[in-house]
Amino acid sequence: MRILLSNDDGYAAPGLSVLAQALRQIAEVIVVAPERNRSGASNSLTLDRPLRLNRLDADVYAVDGTPADCVNLALTGAVDARPDLVISGINAGENLGEDVLYSGTVAAAMEGALLGLPALAISQVAHAEPVDYGHAVRLVLELVQGCTRETLPRGTLLNVNVPQGSQLPRLQLTRLGRRHRDTVAIRQEDPRHRPVFWLGPIGSPGADAGPGTDFHAVGEGYASVTPIHTDLTAYSQLEDVGSWLATAAGRAV
Ligand code: MN
Repeated sequence: MRILLSNDDGYAAPGLSVLAQALRQIAEVIVVAPERNRSGASNSLTLDRPLRLNRLDADVYAVDGTPADCVNLALTGAVDARPDLVISGINAGENLGEDVLYSGTVAAAMEGALLGLPALAISQVAHAEPVDYGHAVRLVLELVQGCTRETLPRGTLLNVNVPQGSQLPRLQLTRLGRRHRDTVAIRQEDPRHRPVFWLGPIGSPGADAGPGTDFHAVGEGYASVTPIHTDLTAYSQLEDVGSWLATAAGRAV
C-alpha cells in the first residue's frame, strides 16, 4: 500500500513526523506537506503564482503552498507514484463541528477525496504541551489496515478526532456538531497607534453538542469518526427554496 501523507501544521510538525515513522512500518509513505504552518487555510488553492516543490528526502516534499495545494500537486503529476490512500495529520488540536470548514487538516484529506481516493483526517485534541500522539498513531494504523480490507466509499473522507487520555480510546461514529459563535475580534494597536485585529478564538462547543455529535463523543473519551462528503447541497431545503423562489421570482422555476 502507498500512502500520501500531508497536514496543515507543516512538514516538520511532530504530529506528522511520528505518524510518518509509524506508517512506514506497514506501507510506502510519501510526505507532501506545507513548508510552514497553514492551519486555517481551508480548501484554498494557490492560483496567483507558481508553486515550488522542495524535495527534502527521497519521499519527503515541502511545498510553499496550502494543504490542498500539496495534495492536488501530489495527485496531479508532481509526484510519480499514485497513492492508494490520503492521510492528513496528525493535527495538533481538535477539528470538530464547523471547524472542518476552516481546517487545513480536513482540507488536505478532502482534496484527496475530491480526486477520487479514500481519505482520512486525524486530529489530536490537545490542551497542553507537549502533545502525546501515541493513541492517535495506534488508531490510524488500525484504520489503515481496515482500508485494505474494505475501502471507503468514493468522495467520502473520515474526520477522526482523538481525545487525550491514558487509555486507547474506543471509536464512536458521529455527526458534526456546532459551536457557539460567541467570540469577538481582539483589537490592538501597532507601534504607530493604528488599530490591528486578531480574529477571536474558536467558539465554545454547545450550540449542538449532544449525544451523537463529535463534540459529545470526544467529551466522553471516545475517538470520534465522522464521515464527511463534499456535496454541500441542502437537500432538505430543495422543496422550500423552490416554493420561495417561485414566489420571489413571480414565475415558475
Ligand atoms: Mn493545524
